[in-house]
Amino acid sequence: MTQILPLYLNGEWTQSASKRWIANLNPATGQKLSEVPCATPSEIERAIAGAKEAFQTWKEVPVPDRARLLQRFLHLLKTHHDDLAETLSQETGKVFADAKGDVWRGIEVVEHACSIPTLMMGETVENVARDIDTHTLLQPLGVCAGITPFNFPAMIPLWMFPLALACGNTFILKPSEQDPMTPVRLIELLHEAGLPKGVLQLIHGDREQVEPLLTHPDIRAISFVGSSTVGQHIYRTGTQHLKRVQCMTGAKNHMVIMPDADMAQVIPHLVGASVGAAGQRCMAISVAVFVGSARAALEPLKEALAEVKPGLWNESDAGFGPLISEPARQRVLKLIGLGKQEGANCLLDGSAFMREDYPLGHWVGPTLFSEVTPEMTLYKEEIFGPVLLAICVETLEEALTLINANPNGNGTSIFTNSGGAARYFQHHVQVGQVGINVPIPVPLPFFSFTGWRNSFYGDQHAYGKQAIRFYTETKTIISRWFHQGEEVQGPNLTIQMR
Ligand code: NAD
Repeated sequence: MTQILPLYLNGEWTQSASKRWIANLNPATGQKLSEVPCATPSEIERAIAGAKEAFQTWKEVPVPDRARLLQRFLHLLKTHHDDLAETLSQETGKVFADAKGDVWRGIEVVEHACSIPTLMMGETVENVARDIDTHTLLQPLGVCAGITPFNFPAMIPLWMFPLALACGNTFILKPSEQDPMTPVRLIELLHEAGLPKGVLQLIHGDREQVEPLLTHPDIRAISFVGSSTVGQHIYRTGTQHLKRVQCMTGAKNHMVIMPDADMAQVIPHLVGASVGAAGQRCMAISVAVFVGSARAALEPLKEALAEVKPGLWNESDAGFGPLISEPARQRVLKLIGLGKQEGANCLLDGSAFMREDYPLGHWVGPTLFSEVTPEMTLYKEEIFGPVLLAICVETLEEALTLINANPNGNGTSIFTNSGGAARYFQHHVQVGQVGINVPIPVPLPFFSFTGWRNSFYGDQHAYGKQAIRFYTETKTIISRWFHQGEEVQGPNLTIQMR
C-alpha cells in the first residue's frame, strides 16, 4: 500500500498541504512505496519558527537529560534494527545485510552522542595571571539544518541530528526525496523516545525546499551531504548568508595495490569496496591503481567481479541491488558508453544486465575497465555505479601523483606488506581518510569523517569532536575574585605585561 508521507512539525505528524508530490519507488520492482510532499513555504516557515521557539527551552535542559533522551532513542533503534533495515532495503534496493550496516553505522553515532556530558566539557586554566582563572563553555548555536543524500538514509541523518540535539540545538531535517521513509521511521522512534515538541522538525522535498534553509536568518548552521556541485552551491549560499556550513561531498577513491600485497586479500576487498551497494557509496573504491607486477591481479579480479550478482534485497545470493533510479542508471550507462568510445578497455561489461522477472529494476551489473587515463570522462566524473576502473603504473610515486592530481580527497587505501611504502603513502597522499590494507577507511564516530579538497567544504567535519565544535559556540570566561583585605590598585590605563 502506498504511504502518504507526513511532515513532522512541532511534535505532530502533519499532512502537507502541498500541491507538488514526488513518487518514492522501489528501485528493484518499480512499485510505488510512498508519496513525498514538497513542503510549502508556510510549512517550512512553521518548521523554522517552531524550532526557534523550542530552542529557548531545549538549551536549558540539563545535559544528562539530553543524553537520556538519546539513550532511549538508542535503545529503540537497536530494538527496531531489522525493521528499519527492511524499510531501507525496500526504498534503496540495498541488500538486507548492507541495509543493516547502514543503520548500524548510524546507531554508533547515537552511542557516541550519549556521551555528550563529557564531549561538551570546556577547558580551564587556573592562574593565567595572578589570581585570574580562565575557562571555556561550549554553548549551542540555535536552529541548525541538515540536508541528506539518498545513499545512506539512516546513517547520514544520524551523523547530524543526534549530535546537534545533544549539544542543545534544535534541528530541521530535509532528507533525500528519493528514500525518505527511513528518516521518517527514525523520527518516529525519536518521538517515541520522548522528544520535546519542536526540537526536531522534518520537512520533505527537493532543491526547492532547501533554498529557504540556506537563506533564512533564524538558521545558524547547515550540514549537507551530497554531490559536489550541490555542495558547492550550498556552501556558497549558506556562508554568503553568514551561516556556519559543513558540506561532505563527492568522491573518486583510489586503492593502490603494491606488488608485495597479499593478492588473496586484495581481490575480495577490492570487489566488496567497488561494487558493494552498487558502487553508490561516497567511500567506494572506484579506481584500482596497480603498481608494477601487481597488474597480474587484473585477471583474477575480473573473474571475481563476474561472480557478483545483482539482485533483490532479500535474495541470499544477491551481492548488491539496483541503482536508486532510472536517471541514475541512464547516467551510469552513458559513462560506460563514453569509456568505450574514449578508448578504455571494457574487460567486464554490466551495462546489459537485466532481470527478466524485474524488468522495471534499475539494474547494472559489475563492470571493469582497464587502460583508463585521467583525461577520460569516466575517470573525471564520479560514476556512482558498480564500475571499477583499473590504471597500471610503474611506481608508488606515480600512483601518488595520480591520486594527488585528482580534485577529490575523500578516501584512499594502499594494500602492501611494506611498512615503509605504507608510511610513505600515508604521509604524502592528499586525501583525508587513508586505509592501510583496509579498503574503505570510514572512521568510527569518536573520530571525525575527514574528507579533503573537493570532497569537503567547511572547517569542522562530521561527527566526532569536530561535530561538537561545529554545533557549538565557545564562550571564554576570565574571572577574578577579590579576597578579603586585598590591596586596592589605582586605575590601570595601559595593557599589563604579565
Ligand atoms: P544530491 O546532491 O543530488 O542530493 C543531496 C541532497 O541535496 C538531497 O536532499 C537533495 O534533495 C538536495 N538537492 C539536490 N539538488 C539540489 C540543489 N540544486 N540545491 C539544493 N539542494 C539540492 O546527492 P545524492 O545523489 O542524493 O547523493 C549522492 C552524492 O552524495 C554523491 O556525490 C556522493 O559522493 C555524495 N556523498 C558524500 C558523502 C561524504 O561524506 N562525502 C557521503 C554520502 C554521499
